[in-house]
Amino acid sequence: MYEVSGRKSGWRRILSASLVSPQDIADRLGIGSSMIEPVTARYPARINPYYLSLIESKGDSLWRQAVPDPAELKDRVFKESDPLSEAGQSPVAGLIHRYPDRVLFMVSDKCAMYCRYCMRKRIVGGGKGAGDVDIGKGLDYISRTPRVREVILSGGDPLMADDAGLDKLLSRISRIEHVEVIRIHTRMPCTLPFRITSDLVRILGAHAPLYVNIQFNHPDELTDEAKKACAMLADAGIPLGCQTVLLAGVNDDIKTMTALMTGLLAARIRPYYIHHPDPVQGTAHFTVPLKKGLEIMDALRGNISGMGVPNYMIDLPGGGGKVPLLPQYVLERTEEKLVVRNFENQIFEYQI
Ligand code: SF4
Repeated sequence: MYEVSGRKSGWRRILSASLVSPQDIADRLGIGSSMIEPVTARYPARINPYYLSLIESKGDSLWRQAVPDPAELKDRVFKESDPLSEAGQSPVAGLIHRYPDRVLFMVSDKCAMYCRYCMRKRIVGGGKGAGDVDIGKGLDYISRTPRVREVILSGGDPLMADDAGLDKLLSRISRIEHVEVIRIHTRMPCTLPFRITSDLVRILGAHAPLYVNIQFNHPDELTDEAKKACAMLADAGIPLGCQTVLLAGVNDDIKTMTALMTGLLAARIRPYYIHHPDPVQGTAHFTVPLKKGLEIMDALRGNISGMGVPNYMIDLPGGGGKVPLLPQYVLERTEEKLVVRNFENQIFEYQI
């Protein structure tokens, strides 16, 4: 649909050619601007030329993730913009301390694309919250909280920062003695793989142990460019994981999810989570029954390599935290034995 001029253009230049205004999006995609204007007034849009080039037809899996939809304003099911109470777990603006040994540091409210299902719709692209982040206060909190062993940079997308800014931030975090691990949550290798430059890889590689968790939601996102970006990171010794979001009309079927998980493994990315979508206002049209998620997990287990089977996670409301869900394998339990079914639905007794 849209030609990308290539790596030589530089990621900033590609990003600056993004479709942002409702009129430009409507003209380019052949839809009515009046349909999406009120949507973008509330939830910003950005479709960069690279991701746009992956969309093949109206309403396909990539379109649904990128293109504003009037359904976002018609959501009568999910009432809360922050159902996980992230704001209530922020000791300082932009930093969430939910679990004992790690913090989530939302260092940017910008992304290379504004995903329509985003759990932080309330923030990304200029909403309230992460834009107000005070990096100094966040670093200060981490420094004076010795139980924090891991810092997760998130947002928005932390890789929206320029190289110098990112290097400085990583250096300051690395100097905090009790911080053992840095993790980066990013969609860049998927939504704008040209951001993964050799300079960036050098910077990330210099701050080991540093992990990068990416979000791919559909096998069509695993393009040659995306795989090359991931290979550059993997070659630098950076472990890669994937946190996929289960989304109606995108990946809520066994065939798509199987292709995605096996494709990730082949691209040297370890599937880590399938997130059940959070009940965030404006995203009800992406919701999937839990039963469907469990069916997909059941189909993955045993049929593909165990390395390709992620955990299926729900996030409890009100800040209860993440919990993994498993299909029912134990059918009966007594003092002496378990009655268990395997992935082929054969029944076995297991002595305990
Ligand atoms: S890249 Fe991540 S934070 Fe940004 S809009 Fe997409 S899902 Fe949300």
